[in-house]
Amino acid sequence: MSFLEISSLRKVFPDGTVAVDRFNLSCHEGEFVVLLGPSGCGKTTTLRMLAGLEDPTSGTISLAGTDVTDSSASERDVGFVFQFYALYPHMTARQNIDFPLSCENVEANERKARVQVVIDRLQLGSLADAHPLQLSGGDQQRVALGRAMVRNPKLYLMDEPLGTIDLELRREIRELIRAQQLEAGITTVYVTHDQEEATRLADTLVVMKDGQIRQIGSSSKVYHHPADLFVAHFIGSPGMNFFEGKITQDNCRYFFESTNGSLVVNIERQVREGPVVLGVRPEALFPRVGGLLQGRVKLNEYQGAWRNLHLETDSGACIIRVSARDKTGRNALMPIGFDLDQLCFFDPDTEKRL
Ligand code: ADP
Ligand code: MG
Repeated sequence: MSFLEISSLRKVFPDGTVAVDRFNLSCHEGEFVVLLGPSGCGKTTTLRMLAGLEDPTSGTISLAGTDVTDSSASERDVGFVFQFYALYPHMTARQNIDFPLSCENVEANERKARVQVVIDRLQLGSLADAHPLQLSGGDQQRVALGRAMVRNPKLYLMDEPLGTIDLELRREIRELIRAQQLEAGITTVYVTHDQEEATRLADTLVVMKDGQIRQIGSSSKVYHHPADLFVAHFIGSPGMNFFEGKITQDNCRYFFESTNGSLVVNIERQVREGPVVLGVRPEALFPRVGGLLQGRVKLNEYQGAWRNLHLETDSGACIIRVSARDKTGRNALMPIGFDLDQLCFFDPDTEKRL
């Protein structure tokens, strides 16, 4: 059995809201799992059930070989950091971080040393003797992180722990969480709605929508082989481009033809015939003389190492990635080539990848 095993987890709130449904997940020890999905998809509810703060309507949770579905939060030995930190207002930052160790009867010198390590790592030195109300939201959140990190629980649960931290510190703390987690080897379930944060951190991504899991896999698998149209568009910045049309076959050669016939792509593999949605990432489209499609530039958007050209074509809008030096102006016409190795096809009815 895996280290964390979640089976058929479901939560229906008294008002009838189905917050989580058919949630199944197996994690090995030391795995960093990220739950990712838009606001309201059930991430926090799932995490609260794992923490023992919310009773599941049905389903089971087992941790390190023990069924903990009916165990209290304290019996589970989990360390959690929630979106809305709850620090003890009458204690200083240092005392807040020390608090979990004081409950565990850790010897005084060791306690002091462990608290200091966490304070140094989180760069809280100058704030260690301040009380929570004297700290900014981001600083309070760092103290809350420290309070979780000072222990070595079986499982870390983190709900958008970087949300309130300033942008410049966020990257540093993100790397620190990951480095600390790798070093201590503690299995972690981390929640975020930020796909970039998620794909950077995760060993395993769990993409959710409307209370259900849409896909489980490594970041690169989810990016290159999205399970459905939702995942394809949600992951990636910008998301995948879509063209509606159909697949036809002629003499064992397969073609995609867009609905109005303005785009015909020769496909180098077998795909079932009939209506499909063709999906292609912005970096798999590029300016090319004699390309398959003609686009008119609507927006040339700077994004650091590259630019995104927003184009209008006869087969619909799309975004292509070009060099940061590209100066193509608005309304210019641009022929577009396709990387034929990077095409995805989806069933327009089920929205699943073919
Ligand atoms: P997320 O963390 O992904 O934003 P939540 O788990 O907080 O999503 O919420 C999932 C769904 O459950 C949402 O529709 C939310 O409105 C609903 N919900 C959350 N908590 C409660 C509650 N205590 N009572 C009723 N509905 C709730
Ligand atoms: Mg939430």
